[in-house]
Amino acid sequence: MKKIEENKIKNKRTGASRKRIKVEVQKSEPDNSQERERVKKIIELLRKEYPETRTALHYRSPFELLIATILAAQCTDERVNKITPALFQKYPTVKDFAEAQPKELENDIRSTGFFRHKARNIIALAQKLLKEYGGQVPDSMDELVKLPGVARKTANIVLSSAFKKAEGIAVDTHVRRLVERLGLSKHTQPEKIENDLMAIVPKSDWLDFNYLLVDHGRKICQARKPRCLECVLKDLCPSFGKFIKIT
Ligand code: SF4
Repeated sequence: MKKIEENKIKNKRTGASRKRIKVEVQKSEPDNSQERERVKKIIELLRKEYPETRTALHYRSPFELLIATILAAQCTDERVNKITPALFQKYPTVKDFAEAQPKELENDIRSTGFFRHKARNIIALAQKLLKEYGGQVPDSMDELVKLPGVARKTANIVLSSAFKKAEGIAVDTHVRRLVERLGLSKHTQPEKIENDLMAIVPKSDWLDFNYLLVDHGRKICQARKPRCLECVLKDLCPSFGKFIKIT
């Protein structure tokens, strides 16, 4: 009899704690349906503006895109596109990059900035690809971020453009600026911004989301002088008006 009573008490307690857990789970998952709707409209409008959106980097293979994306760090895509044709002619294979002389490669990529660091990473990356991946670029986030000089941003660009795989959303300088202005994340660290975006951007749009914001950032929502009056997102943007001078 005593045992039955003890079990009853135990069951009551378990039920209560289950309820508590449910409430806690509900609390930790804020309702972001309004934000999801707003992002959907933003994407719809941007798709109309930039129907051909894609990376501006020129490449012919996943490996060339990987190298071009590494070179594009702290540099413009335009500048990278100027040097890559000659670079890929001089080093046509992964093996050629793996065997490159550091000083020579530094000179070849000097105009993209941070050339010593980039050359060191590119040679180490090519060597690792040869040694561990049979000279092929892996097509998963887990493997890509193990390569020297490759963080999530670079991996996301390669995955989305070269492999059409959506494992995340690349957060670069344009995305950071636009996300902040559009009020889509309060964070400043790329990984946290990416997490916020992955919670509200439909997965079917992950492949292009970076490119849409980059196109809009280059054409309209520029860093110094955003052209808010011409912006298709003005009705959806909490920053509209902040940058307009009232004379
Ligand atoms: S309204 Fe202005 S700040 Fe907002 S996205 Fe457009 S250009 Fe950028």
